[in-house]
Amino acid sequence: MNKTIGVIGLGIIGSVWARHYNEAGVLAGAWNRSAKPDFPQWKPTALDVAKASDVVQIVVADPPAVQNVIEAILPVLGPGKIVIQSSTIDPVSSTEFKKRVEAAGARYLEAPFTGSKPAAEQKKSVYYLGGDDALIADVEPLLSLVSEFRYTIGTNVHATTLKLAMNLNIAGQMQALAETLTLVRNSGVADDLFFKVIKQNVSYSGVTALKEPKLKAGEFSPQFSVKHMLKDMRLASRVAACDEFPLLDTVRECLHHADQAGLADEDFSALIKLLK
Ligand code: NAP
Repeated sequence: MNKTIGVIGLGIIGSVWARHYNEAGVLAGAWNRSAKPDFPQWKPTALDVAKASDVVQIVVADPPAVQNVIEAILPVLGPGKIVIQSSTIDPVSSTEFKKRVEAAGARYLEAPFTGSKPAAEQKKSVYYLGGDDALIADVEPLLSLVSEFRYTIGTNVHATTLKLAMNLNIAGQMQALAETLTLVRNSGVADDLFFKVIKQNVSYSGVTALKEPKLKAGEFSPQFSVKHMLKDMRLASRVAACDEFPLLDTVRECLHHADQAGLADEDFSALIKLLK
């Protein structure tokens, strides 16, 4: 391993990745907006992280948060530095961030991911990489420390769009699962039987497998929060020609209602709480 990495954003995912990098001996810095001074390789500012690291990985909430971070680290970006942007953002923002980083002389890789908290814990995140092959090859040894699959998608626009599209599919499936389970519960069928039977149904999916324990237990601590899924559906709605997708409109509204009902920080499977 000939490069060090710094992680900016120590939320649900960033904190897990940073600990994996630290165990591997490559973490050179870590920073979070709300201070976490006990975190391994903690640095007082994002700028200090970028100074200390060859590669800076950003995993924060949304495009405005990424913008704040990029503005903060810009003074130390230059030849030899690489920015890996892993927050889920929209293609237009991504192109703007790429331009700013490259204008400073550094390289920019759009690297959204999937897999939620359990996959991150098991080093099984899946990356959708948008950038050139040489850059991807340069960061491959680092990303392989936290991920199982890394797909080269194309440009930053391709990668961000694919990520938003995947989340549309997940959000739609989650809403369908919540309604299906509620319908069945209301008839008196037990959850155990429902989840046994759905395993042999063509509709059985990774979303069903991942959310079965939470739905059964009524336990909605966040693996991926309502507020971020809502953010992603809003971003997807702004992608050209997606502004009148019926399912996207519906799931965005359902998530908006969940947010209004005080569920913003709960797992997005808490959508089921809005159903009677
Ligand atoms: P999270 O736990 O909510 O963490 C969000 C992070 O962003 C926190 O470190 C937060 O800092 C920081 N942040 C928010 N606003 C900021 C600002 N204005 N300036 C600087 N930092 C700011 O989120 P997460 O689940 O780790 O997700 C992070 C990103 O990955 C999101 O874009 C999400 O959509 C995406 N993602 C998540 C998953 C998942 O399963 N969790 C899967 C795929 C993609 P504070 O601690 O100070 O609030």
